[in-house]
Amino acid sequence: MAFIKIKPDLKQNMSRLSDILNIPEQLLISANLGASLDEFYFPGVNQQAGKDAPPAETYEQLELLVNERPRLDEEQWLTETIVYDSAALKNEIEKLTECFPFVTSHILGRSALGQPIYELCLGAEDAEKTTHINASFHANEWITTSVLMKWLKEYCLFLCTGQHVLGFSPPELFRQTKLSVVPLVNPDGVDLVLLGPEHLGIERDAFDEMNEHQPDFKEWKANINGVDLNNQFPSDWEIEKRRKPPKSPSYRDYPGDEPLTEPEAIVMRDLIASQPPDRLVALHTQGEEIYWGYKGLEPPESSKVIQTFERLSGYKGVRFIDSYAGFRDWFIHFYQKEGYTVELGKGKNPLPLSQFDDIYCKSRGILWASCFFES
Ligand SMILES: [Zn+2]
Repeated sequence: MAFIKIKPDLKQNMSRLSDILNIPEQLLISANLGASLDEFYFPGVNQQAGKDAPPAETYEQLELLVNERPRLDEEQWLTETIVYDSAALKNEIEKLTECFPFVTSHILGRSALGQPIYELCLGAEDAEKTTHINASFHANEWITTSVLMKWLKEYCLFLCTGQHVLGFSPPELFRQTKLSVVPLVNPDGVDLVLLGPEHLGIERDAFDEMNEHQPDFKEWKANINGVDLNNQFPSDWEIEKRRKPPKSPSYRDYPGDEPLTEPEAIVMRDLIASQPPDRLVALHTQGEEIYWGYKGLEPPESSKVIQTFERLSGYKGVRFIDSYAGFRDWFIHFYQKEGYTVELGKGKNPLPLSQFDDIYCKSRGILWASCFFES
């Protein structure tokens, strides 16, 4: 973890430290919540020297140490587009929490194959609003994780540089909103699509029937048990159970034998039930549409927020669709709070990485606006 040793007295004056570092005070407070008295955490890269360097005794010494740190915007991994299998995500979460100590990561639970499902959190401790964003419920929609992580890195970077974007002030969003991000809901499924069954230590034949004898797994949408995680939630689940074509586990669309049989769906239900956010955004592909209503149970704010989303993305808001038992459906049904499913990009899933720049350019405004609440 990146920190420097510091004379505890110096930490009494966070606003002075904020001036020296040119970083919002709120970020420093957030980054130092768990720090011991003589440790000082602040955004930066390669501060491994922290343990061995002599402690900063004065503000001047601190300033010298700070000036030695590399510039954040020269770090290539921060701006790179990455395709995330579960190992790549783990690697990047380590870098991100090291570089930006105001971001915390937790393992919410485990997938069917025992892989961790991560949540990343940031936002001021006394922030009044909460937003949750997730990606890759569906395995063949892995590009959504790339979009979400690229934006999260942009958010962290702009928090430190103070850069405004699309009319939003990142430090203001940080003060206003606690953000919860689950970038990879279905790690087993995404690994199957990107790396193949052998990588997971499973014989190819074991999936052949569920995969309807297709030569590869690139269209696999379900979790590793052949259950569609976004058809697993107890809100008119019976309707989907009755009408979805697969009557047994399949590479796509099977709602399960009952609601919430799959560990990934249970993890997401538990996360929301323990602290229902004010706003929920689920990233999927494809269609350039945003679903925002559910049986008229959505709150009145949704009809305003969707206009902002439409304006920033050029995507089309759709209030009602004939679909049930999804994560967002259940959220609106049970909590009557804002929920949006964003269908990124256009084409046939899996969307190719060549679409990434176009998708990101259109959708990043939705992600920024997700953290903004009209006061
Ligand atoms: Zn989807």
